[in-house]
Amino acid sequence: LRGVVALDGPSGTGKSSAARRLAASLGARYLDTGAMYRAVTLAVLRAGVDPADAERVTEVARTLRLVQGSDPQRSTTTLDGTDVGTDIRGPEVTLAVSPVSAVPQVRELLVAQQRAIIAAALEDAGGIVVEGRDIGTVVVPDAELKVYLTADAQARAQRRTRQDNASGRTSTVDATLADVQRRDAYDSSRAVSPLRPAEDAVELDTTSLDLAGVLAALVDLVEQ
Ligand code: C5P
Repeated sequence: LRGVVALDGPSGTGKSSAARRLAASLGARYLDTGAMYRAVTLAVLRAGVDPADAERVTEVARTLRLVQGSDPQRSTTTLDGTDVGTDIRGPEVTLAVSPVSAVPQVRELLVAQQRAIIAAALEDAGGIVVEGRDIGTVVVPDAELKVYLTADAQARAQRRTRQDNASGRTSTVDATLADVQRRDAYDSSRAVSPLRPAEDAVELDTTSLDLAGVLAALVDLVEQ
């Protein structure tokens, strides 16, 4: 792959798993921008700061040392040198991540860091698959390919519940559905970089696709 593939969409569309495999199969790098917003949120919670307090949240974001890896085989996230890959997936972070990522200064800091990671990956590997909510609209508006993944809410809740249960967190489809809908509503209605497809994005509905199906559809789009 030469260049950037931007994958956006709400949670539970199969974005992360497909993005990672797509990158691995193309010999490209992979950037999980959601992990970065989650890491800032974890730091906010650990500092005892209210996620709704934009000023103090910004202070935390300015002072933390966040390193996000771009290896698709092993996507790592460290905070001040410590791996936080597991902690950032916990329910506390999931609950608080939307208000933290709605703070404009947080987005400014992370988008700058994301662009630097992308530039380095293009230099080293020639290509990168980047996933998030605002990749095609804000982070890389001139990406070679932009895909906006969708799926109906029930299918997304089922996917997320399966993922949670597989990684040892017990959750029910109903609770996950409520969480997914709350987060999507928040992400879509925030003032800065709301979740929405870029005008030139290809929409891919993954409701009835499994991981192999999503991956195959993405490979087709890359090859077109
Ligand atoms: O993708 P993931 O579910 O890990 O993202 C967690 C949250 O981070 C999203 O619900 C959204 O609030 C935020 N996010 C964002 N912009 C991105 C990626 C994630 O605002 N590019």
